[in-house]
Amino acid sequence: MSFDLARVRASFPLLTREVNGQPLAYLDSAASAQKPQVVIDAESRFYEHGYAAVHRGIHTLSAEATTKMENVRIQAAQFLNAASAEEIVFVKGTTEAINLVASSWGGNQLQPGDNIIITEMEHHANIVPWQIVAERTGAEVRFIPLTANGKLDIPKLPALMDSRTRMLAVTHVSNVLGTENPVKALVAQARAAGVATLIDGAQAIMHQQVDVQDLDCDFYVFSGHKIYGPTGIGILYGRKALLDQMPPWEAGGSMIATVSLTKGTTYATAPWRFEAGSPNTGAIIGLGAALKWVSELGLEVIAEREQQLMNYALEKLATVPDLVIYGPRQRSCVIAFNLGKHHAFDVGSFLDQYGIAIRTGHHCAMPLMYHYQVPAMCRASFVLYNSEEEVDRLVAGLIRIHRLLGLSFNP
Ligand SMILES: *Cc1c(COP(=O)(O)O)cnc(C)c1O
Repeated sequence: MSFDLARVRASFPLLTREVNGQPLAYLDSAASAQKPQVVIDAESRFYEHGYAAVHRGIHTLSAEATTKMENVRIQAAQFLNAASAEEIVFVKGTTEAINLVASSWGGNQLQPGDNIIITEMEHHANIVPWQIVAERTGAEVRFIPLTANGKLDIPKLPALMDSRTRMLAVTHVSNVLGTENPVKALVAQARAAGVATLIDGAQAIMHQQVDVQDLDCDFYVFSGHKIYGPTGIGILYGRKALLDQMPPWEAGGSMIATVSLTKGTTYATAPWRFEAGSPNTGAIIGLGAALKWVSELGLEVIAEREQQLMNYALEKLATVPDLVIYGPRQRSCVIAFNLGKHHAFDVGSFLDQYGIAIRTGHHCAMPLMYHYQVPAMCRASFVLYNSEEEVDRLVAGLIRIHRLLGLSFNP
């Protein structure tokens, strides 16, 4: 199947909006993607025609809603090529998934003197939960440093990994540099040493086919809102054998088998043990629609188109004077940059005046900002609905800003 940009763009109602009197150029999908009409419709149809509490009632609506929700679990398992739907836990997003694993798996497994290895390019969501559980258990957090061109310095890993290493938690793709990490090789190295693995897939899942059995990782996590689904829903894939050993995390309804005030409580099996309380059913159904939409378009077709656009963007951005681009040449769909010495916020505000939405700041990766010794970066991200014309507008905007700011700084 070939890629039809006009048709894809027409699927996203928000893209027709104007911002500051200009057509919107939305270059911030790495923070959160816009939603196709099919996702919006699936969620509203559920509220209009099929809404009820799940898991509790024997009435028709409740049974239907439960089936719909469990079907999305099966669908998510297929999307990731998990061995079974019982390896899929519904969570709020990547952040909650990592907190769940750090708290439940880590809290149960880590001993004083153990260590967890992360990397210098992680999102705060894959740093702070490990720091907290390390502090609680007396474990230590180590990190794989970066090379000068923004890749992981993998040869440093053997010196970090020892008999007390329990977990290697790595991002699949950096949300700032776009670096794609060799996660399959890293997982193999960890498994050979008996180390558990977690892959933060938040920035990879919408750009490439992910196969958790091929990767052989223990945990893989992502957020629905970055793959064109609703906010407030995400997926934790966990190898069944590990999920089965993990103690409950949040407690309450739906995660129990029996509750007694005198004889104690027994818990449901995984994955339901980790889904306390009423789930975000509407968002789950929206996520199902998003995964279906992406699958029908085809991740190979998407990847090819996105890489073509990225090559175009990198080529055009090279014509902007004083533009510093961070990260390796070969990258996934984000480009972090700074324009000379101008603060990223100034550049972002000017671009907004031209209707161009980019991200500015530390991108929830402060260690990476320290690495490059900058307070902030601009980040433009590109997905399947972005166009060459939007790249041209970004480049023209940056050249104009360079001229304007240059004049005001050198009167
Ligand atoms: C966005 C992102 C997260 C956090 O996702 P939430 O949806 O905010 O929980 C974590 N890691 C990476 C790499 C991300 O891009």
